[in-house]
Amino acid sequence: MKLEKYSMGIGDRFCHQGKAQLAAFVEAAKRGIHVTPVWNKSNREHLIVHSEPASTRAEADDAVKSLGWKGAFRVDADHIGIKTVDRFLPVSDFFTIDVADFIGKPATEYGLDDLVKLVAGIGSKPAIEEISRPIELSPEKIVAVAGKYLAAVKEAGRVYKHIEASKGRNNFITEVSMDETDQPQTPEELLIILAAIACEGIPVQTIAPKFTGRFNKGVDYQGNLAKFETEFNDDLAVVAFAIRNFGLPDDLKLSVHSGSDKFSIYAPIHNAVRRRHAGLHLKTAGTTWLEEIAALAAVGPDGLQFAREIYAGAVEHFDELCAPYSSVIDIQRSKLPSPGEVNIWSGDELAAAIRHDSQNAAYNPAVRQLLHVGYKLAAQAGRRYTDLLEKHAEYIGKCVTTNILDRHLLKIFG
Ligand SMILES: [Zn+2]
Repeated sequence: MKLEKYSMGIGDRFCHQGKAQLAAFVEAAKRGIHVTPVWNKSNREHLIVHSEPASTRAEADDAVKSLGWKGAFRVDADHIGIKTVDRFLPVSDFFTIDVADFIGKPATEYGLDDLVKLVAGIGSKPAIEEISRPIELSPEKIVAVAGKYLAAVKEAGRVYKHIEASKGRNNFITEVSMDETDQPQTPEELLIILAAIACEGIPVQTIAPKFTGRFNKGVDYQGNLAKFETEFNDDLAVVAFAIRNFGLPDDLKLSVHSGSDKFSIYAPIHNAVRRRHAGLHLKTAGTTWLEEIAALAAVGPDGLQFAREIYAGAVEHFDELCAPYSSVIDIQRSKLPSPGEVNIWSGDELAAAIRHDSQNAAYNPAVRQLLHVGYKLAAQAGRRYTDLLEKHAEYIGKCVTTNILDRHLLKIFG
């Protein structure tokens, strides 16, 4: 199964915005921008909202049918591992194998000789086109990088084989992710990781490294823009080189996780991908929930009351809500208004604090990030929440579509 050149991960915690999300891809396609939607929902999200992977598949199928979408679409088992993959097997055709927890662990079995041989085959100074500085490889360096990443790649191989045994070869898309970790991978490390993945026999189609800088959920990129741009370009160069030299699938591309709202790096990403004729997968995931809660705050008294309660609950349960996301959020607690303060804000004021518009002085990234991880509280509200979503579906749907189309699809792929 091939993955199209451009694809974007969309997530929808409560399974109510399938059509509104897909409408953005329909509109982009009308403008000649063809991007494959990938419904992704991580195991972590399913556990928090008590949903089953089958509901994501049903949502995607239903949206595709009712909008008459003729393009490809996928359903991603996002951030799964050997212990969590099974319930995704019947319904997913895209698997994001998350092995970040295995980085730095000693490899129990050794495929090191094969790896050293494969990497040695490209020479100690491989001629990688358009890389900003040459990569130099020595056997010692290969062994050192392998020491850090081989256990993770071995684990990816184990999970891949498990999926393949169930789905059959070529019947699904394979992603390997190493993004939820502390240290970014250098282009050099990425090259050796891709060689190890090739040795392991994983037909990887998207690879999610950790890039330099902070990719906090739902807010803009934080870090050195020039450094990111150089690194991203070098990663693209390494991926193209690895396809040609390690026999990896020719649709292999970079996957940018926590990609929602990274407005300041969209232009460099867009330019680099275009210049190199490379593909790109960008995951946006959970921010559809933020569109829902912001829209509810603005739409009427019942929605506003609900949004205020969610905020108060999120402040109260701060530690518990933030813990599963510690490497991908960065909330300045001193910037959080008290629930009492928020309770006297108008609906538009609360919506403006949540919505990511850096031109608006009322925008508050701390509030936005806290609510981003606060979806658990809406899940606990059950029918009360989903009834509100249904009552105000038209307005919320418009906000969801606009967010995906104008702030993401057109900026990155346009
Ligand atoms: Zn991720």
